[in-house]
Amino acid sequence: LVSRENHAERSVVRVGGVPVGPGTMTLIAGPCAVETPDQTLQAAQMAQAAGATLLRGGAFKPRTSPYAFQGLGEAGLRILADVRDETGMPIVTEVVDAADVDLVASYADMLQIGTRNAQNFALLQAAGESGKPVMLKRGMNGTIEEWLMAAEYVAQRGNLDIVLCERGIRTFERATRNTLDISAVPVAQRLSHLPVIVDPSHSGGSRDLVLPLTRAAIAVGADGVIIDVHPHPETALCDGPQALVDGDLRELAKLVRDLPPFV
Ligand code: PEP
Repeated sequence: LVSRENHAERSVVRVGGVPVGPGTMTLIAGPCAVETPDQTLQAAQMAQAAGATLLRGGAFKPRTSPYAFQGLGEAGLRILADVRDETGMPIVTEVVDAADVDLVASYADMLQIGTRNAQNFALLQAAGESGKPVMLKRGMNGTIEEWLMAAEYVAQRGNLDIVLCERGIRTFERATRNTLDISAVPVAQRLSHLPVIVDPSHSGGSRDLVLPLTRAAIAVGADGVIIDVHPHPETALCDGPQALVDGDLRELAKLVRDLPPFV
């Protein structure tokens, strides 16, 4: 279903009216985690000023440590919905449990399935039945084939509105948080008709790498990027060191403004 074999044209997925796919380079940005209404609104406004058309933000956070901030849950979803009303930006947010799909889908414009759940087949199937577009991150230890087969689980439930997201894989290299597999972008676009975006924030894990990796994503023809932004990263409850701040966002805005016409 997601293969290009029977679907030669690459697909465009609409997220609350915003296109993701060939002919566009969609900027999705916002806080890693929703913390407070002010922090979320400020991050969204910073993102929007830089050219972002979709807002990201985690209300359910899958953390390595059970002692780390786990997200605000439904209260976070309500904050996202308020910020969508204020800014007009459709929301992309993660769902970590099949039992929460209906709840998250009642607020979100696109469901995010994270790297740790890339082969949680029950969750993939539930997301496929949600009626919402699904952004599917590549498993940190997953091959491209496993990633596409995960997408197939969503598609089998009648949902072809799937956006693939390369977010870096686990390698021997520890100088970066993950190794951005930039070649996965054109390979996945060759094998599948689905849009493919890049997460330079979770790949590099460090603010200074986000713009260079974004340039790389643009250069290989990614259909979009998803970027962490925080008004005060030094106080962030999640992944502050990789969040872009005001000065970086001016650079990002320039990058997006100067994009070549992709059509
Ligand atoms: C995220 O985008 O908030 C996230 C946790 O990403 P990943 O699943 O790629 O680690």
